[in-house]
Amino acid sequence: MGIPKILILGAGYGGLMTAVRLEKILNYNEAEVTLVNKHEYHYFTTWLHEPAAGTKDPDKCRVGLDQILDMNKTQFIKGTVTSIDKEAQKVTLENGEDLSYDYLVIGLGSEPETFGIEGLRNHAFSISNINAVREIREHIEYNFARYNQEKSSDLVTIVVGGAGFTGVEFVGELTDRIPELCKEFDVDPSVVKIYSVEAAPTVLPGFDPELVNYAMEVLTRKGVTFKINTPIKECTPEGVVLADGEAIKSNTVVWTGGVRGNAIIEQAGFETMRGRVKVDEFLHAPGHDNVFVVGDGALIINEEINRPYPPTAQIAIQQGNNLGDNIVATIRGAKLTPFKPSLKGTVASLGKGEAIGLVGSKKIFGTTAAIMKKVVDNRSLFLIGGLSLVMKKAKL
Ligand code: FAD
Ligand code: NAD
Repeated sequence: MGIPKILILGAGYGGLMTAVRLEKILNYNEAEVTLVNKHEYHYFTTWLHEPAAGTKDPDKCRVGLDQILDMNKTQFIKGTVTSIDKEAQKVTLENGEDLSYDYLVIGLGSEPETFGIEGLRNHAFSISNINAVREIREHIEYNFARYNQEKSSDLVTIVVGGAGFTGVEFVGELTDRIPELCKEFDVDPSVVKIYSVEAAPTVLPGFDPELVNYAMEVLTRKGVTFKINTPIKECTPEGVVLADGEAIKSNTVVWTGGVRGNAIIEQAGFETMRGRVKVDEFLHAPGHDNVFVVGDGALIINEEINRPYPPTAQIAIQQGNNLGDNIVATIRGAKLTPFKPSLKGTVASLGKGEAIGLVGSKKIFGTTAAIMKKVVDNRSLFLIGGLSLVMKKAKL
């Protein structure tokens, strides 16, 4: 029998952190580790609202995997996973290549949850990866460029569907970018409209009401029009239709209405809720001691409130770390350590110099929160790529 083969799918926060941890603790020739990812880089999903709005260069939000991993220890395959056959212990890539495994780590992240809303898939953008955000930025710029010739207000009306953290962070960035765009393309700022549409009675549903009010005040002052308690019912080439019948004409609809686990997991026959697998305390997929799920694809329950933990990078990184240890423990026949999230808090940006956050039970606002947001972002760089990644990409 050869050495065990560990196959990791996805180099996001969960998958990459697992690979980083394995590199640190596996002995020479103890296992063969292969990482498959669509791109030869890792992108910082948590920063993507910035390049989407055009306030940051997309290149600043990614790093080559060869700069994080030791390619002598981790074999990297650039490829797109199309299916997982858990019975045959085999993964198939888009180019037809089959990869076998003894241990499988599924870290394929999430995809937009459209709730079956008509037209969203075809007519709305989503903030989901580097290529997707490049498209959003270019599209907005092109529409501003067209405005003076065509004078249609749809070209400078942006609708953001869903005011969870992604939607709120994105509109915050947009409000910073619009003055620049207006200057560059000679557009009168008063014709530009940014709508944040939310189905729930409040933006950031479930978050601290005082912080929510603060966020709404800041963003309203910066030019955002909120439409709350009004779900988007349909998305068309002309814009969106809300549940109350109102139609907002817009050439740019960005859907930030939530996420579900990567469809590949469901297609592989795992039982899922919103595409996420309810894993056990060691991140095993039920009934499969050699298949683990990390990050947005893994559903774990917060027993204190009997609800799933939200899919976050914070938890994905912690899971990757724990999983690296547990895979090695499995190989060595040692005791596994149950995964328990250690939540540090939530900080959300509202654009340059403004943010809100809950750190432990302490509420933070404005500049303090904006500084804390940079600390949080830089901390995740450190956890993934150590000081050298912080030196290359840190937010100052
Ligand atoms: P990801 O980081 O999304 O990585 C998935 C990887 O799998 C990617 O590299 C992708 O290319 C690869 N992949 C996908 N499909 C395939 C395939 N078929 N074949 C091969 N490779 C594939 N969370 C926080 O904790 N704090 C924040 O401040 C925060 N801010 C956010 C801001 C935005 C704009 C967004 C969109 C999310 C934010 N989140 C935040 C949530 C966080 O980004 C996710 O929970 C986290 O990225 C999940 O990590 P993951 O490893 O599961 O997936
Ligand atoms: P989400 O599920 O948190 O928010 C989606 C929002 O869209 C909800 O408020 C929901 O009510 C709304 N919505 C759903 N259907 C709608 C409809 N038809 N019309 C209008 N609104 C509708 O999703 P997200 O914001 O993409 O966040 C995904 C995950 O990433 C979450 O776990 C979040 O905590 C995390 N995240 C964290 C941060 C941060 O910590 N700073 C930033 C971004 C994302």
